[in-house]
Amino acid sequence: MEKFDNNRTKDAWSARAAHRLTRRSFVAGAGAMGALAALGSFGLAGCASKGGTASSGSNGTDAEADDSFDAVIVGTGGAGLSAAIAAYDKGLVNIVLLEKMGVNGGNTNYASSGMNASETIFQAEQGIQDDSSLFAQETLDGGHNTGDPELVRFMCNNSAAAIEWLDGLGIKLDNITMTGGMSVKRCHRPTDGSAVGLTLVPGLLDAVSERGIPIAMNCEAKELVVDGGAVTGVKVEADGEEQTLRAKAVILATGGLGANAQMVTKYRPDLEGYVTTNQPGATGDGYTMAERAGAELVQMDQIQIHPTVEQKTSTLIAEGVRGSGAILVNSKGKRFFNEMSTRDKVSAAELEQPGGFAWCVFDQQVYDANKAIAKYDKSGLVKKGANAAELAAAIEVDPAALQDTVNAYNAVSANGEADEFGRTEGCIAFADGAMYAIKVAPGIHHEMGGIRINAKNQALDASGAPIPGLYAAGEVTGGIHGDNRIGGNAVCDIEVFGKNVGEAVAEALA
Ligand code: ADP
Repeated sequence: MEKFDNNRTKDAWSARAAHRLTRRSFVAGAGAMGALAALGSFGLAGCASKGGTASSGSNGTDAEADDSFDAVIVGTGGAGLSAAIAAYDKGLVNIVLLEKMGVNGGNTNYASSGMNASETIFQAEQGIQDDSSLFAQETLDGGHNTGDPELVRFMCNNSAAAIEWLDGLGIKLDNITMTGGMSVKRCHRPTDGSAVGLTLVPGLLDAVSERGIPIAMNCEAKELVVDGGAVTGVKVEADGEEQTLRAKAVILATGGLGANAQMVTKYRPDLEGYVTTNQPGATGDGYTMAERAGAELVQMDQIQIHPTVEQKTSTLIAEGVRGSGAILVNSKGKRFFNEMSTRDKVSAAELEQPGGFAWCVFDQQVYDANKAIAKYDKSGLVKKGANAAELAAAIEVDPAALQDTVNAYNAVSANGEADEFGRTEGCIAFADGAMYAIKVAPGIHHEMGGIRINAKNQALDASGAPIPGLYAAGEVTGGIHGDNRIGGNAVCDIEVFGKNVGEAVAEALA
């Protein structure tokens, strides 16, 4: 099978560079010749269709136009790609994916920790006892009971099936770790322990390619077409030209708003000036389009900041690093909080430290257990020393204080008891020898609020009624995570609800 050529998905760092490309590039699957062929006959060369003539109208009512689809899926992150694959496999083949950037994958490319899931085949193989109701409870607890219990239960109950579905697509997530806010290992990573996004996106793109589902790149959805309260299409723009695509269903999978500073501060004025971990296409378009079409947006002020972001490059240091034993120390070489607590609490504690930052400190065992660290190192983000004293010199903290901190942590780890900050998870004693540190502080990470949906992924209005023809999945939706998202739950969300929306739309249109 021909592999999907999406150059940025192979490497998160080259991905960042690829995002800066302005050159138009059309990407389509091995079987997507229809899409490529269509470009020539389309008035708007930037958008793909299954072929035929261009639509000249902007109201989506030209009966002769060959730009009508069963479903238009906006966004090629994990949610959009999964939706397309699931819809196709349920028989809905007249579909198209739109991507406003020149590269696919969105923020999903940067998903680092893994995918949380309970009662999975891989947990069973490894003797890990888990329960979907425990997963749901810990998700609700992590969000301080502000998440929607029905959506949370749906996500957790369907997480094992999503892991198996991905496995069937050739995406194996069988290396299981923990992140903050979970009491058992349920964060599923690729076999080699690498960042999940760089396995997930290429794997999903391969599946899209195999099915010949067309992707229109550099094609931006601008507005939903609404007719008598129902969504009947989407206006798009590519290369400065506009076109209307008609659709029986539009699935918004446009991700978050972290790259739109104006929108971030509209909902959270206190976040002005924060760095963002988001890719440049995360500009919140889906919220604006959905709201204009009558959808309700919920909990939009719930923008998650992530505690371990390297500030010069906005690189997110994966939570798995702490999960496998790293500690956070302040500029005085002292620990200050339970590193495995939830992201909101760790971020707040970090901001209270002198200078509002921390060093994420770890040993060779942690370095070797997390493939991503070699990449951080290659990018010059990792300070190192042959021992604690040398590392202390490199990061300019008091050597005796750092050594005391490590000794105290090791003593508690050896006992298996909660330490003075209450940490019980991921406590692994530092081995003698090389030590490493990355300077981190909080950064804007994830919009937890968004379009209100039900368990069929229908977009809902303020009265709770579905807006006919409009669906949403992934980060663009709201209410699942509440006011704090557990690390690894975003990938669970995009996979469970991405698959679900594809199946739901196929069923609705059958
Ligand atoms: P999720 O995790 O929910 O799948 P991602 O951030 O991974 O979200 O992916 C969302 C994708 O949607 C990104 O690739 C982004 O560039 C794309 N996107 C955002 N807005 C638009 C738009 N208006 N038109 C087309 N694509 C869009």
